[in-house]
Amino acid sequence: MSELRELYQQVILDHSKKPRNFGPLANANCQADGYNPLCGDKVKIYLKINGDVIEEATFEGSGCAISTASVSMLTEFAKGKKVSEVNALFDKFHLLVTEGLHEEGSPDLDKLEVFAGVSEFPMRVKCATLAWHTIKAAFENKKEAVSTE
Ligand code: ZN
Repeated sequence: MSELRELYQQVILDHSKKPRNFGPLANANCQADGYNPLCGDKVKIYLKINGDVIEEATFEGSGCAISTASVSMLTEFAKGKKVSEVNALFDKFHLLVTEGLHEEGSPDLDKLEVFAGVSEFPMRVKCATLAWHTIKAAFENKKEAVSTE
């Protein structure tokens, strides 16, 4: 178990040090800002959505290792997915980070299992879910920044 935990921490550290899809997206047609006042995490997500398919996803912002890794992995996951698929996975991800519950047979959720340890630290749940709240706001092109509070 501790080896697994170490591996998970390495994945989170790797994404937070070398975030994927970092930077503005010139041809974005959806975007939103998110803020987690508890920790000070800020994120802006840019999407290019065609029909109901997310063709491109990038982000900017700054935050703690968990929030940065979460948004980095989310933008990787979202590319090529349907909006409804991201919304459905958010429900499972939320159970994972709040209850540590992991639904079997979901390859997408398997990759996100690195965040299961967050469930032991309620203060950090909002760091992990900020990206997801923000991408949902981006789907609706919300002008107001979303806050986890
Ligand atoms: Zn944070």
